[in-house]
Amino acid sequence: MALIRCDGVAAAYEGQIVVHDLDFQISPGEYLCIVGENGSGKSTLVKMLLGLKAPAKGQIVLGDGLKQNEIGYLPQQTDVQKDFPASVYEVVLSGRLNSRGFRPFYTATDKKKVKEMMQLLGIEDLERQCFRELSGGQRQRVLLARALCATKKMLLLDEPVTGLDPLVTAEFYQLIKEVNKMSGIAVVMVSHDIESAVRDASHILHLQETALYYGTAEGYRNSEIGKKFLGGTA
Ligand code: ADP
Repeated sequence: MALIRCDGVAAAYEGQIVVHDLDFQISPGEYLCIVGENGSGKSTLVKMLLGLKAPAKGQIVLGDGLKQNEIGYLPQQTDVQKDFPASVYEVVLSGRLNSRGFRPFYTATDKKKVKEMMQLLGIEDLERQCFRELSGGQRQRVLLARALCATKKMLLLDEPVTGLDPLVTAEFYQLIKEVNKMSGIAVVMVSHDIESAVRDASHILHLQETALYYGTAEGYRNSEIGKKFLGGTA
């Protein structure tokens, strides 16, 4: 059963349709990359998947017990977030906010999960450091640990390597692949980087107001649209 299924989904701002006729699904354990140029509707789709924007048409159906607040979300980095005056531990722990509900305190289970995720991502030594003093790559690991604390089933990463240097970018992609393989958590990543997307993802959704392509990464590589965007480098 799919975690998320989009059936004929469209989105509009002030009555103006900006994306339309989206039909795709995200299955457990899958790695879907959403690619497309600026203004193609990627952020709008992310907002709909998170339940922050209602579709103008069609529907988004959640399945396999997934709740919208159990999607582990790694937002696009903004300068405000980079300046966040909290320790690494506090940032990771805040990933447990959604499961805390109305309880006023974090439980031992919350704290155990934080430790586990920090170990998994190799950031336990940074625990007491201030988030804003970290390098870009370290920050992304911390935000990934935070997102993993929020979910058992699905990560949603919005352009996670923006501003990272090539080496750190490669490390981050590798980490995402390992998390996806080892934990079976489905990954949905919005990316500009089509070549890395085709290398790592199981499925590709190429947006340009609607799906120019949706299917397996292998199929994309061999499709007319894929060949055009990959520029013969695949
Ligand atoms: P992407 O993330 O791929 O760059 P967006 O989802 O941000 O694309 O934008 C898709 C379209 O919706 C664009 O034409 C953009 O101008 C428009 N758009 C995005 N956000 C708003 C908004 N808050 N109000 C009006 N139009 C918007």
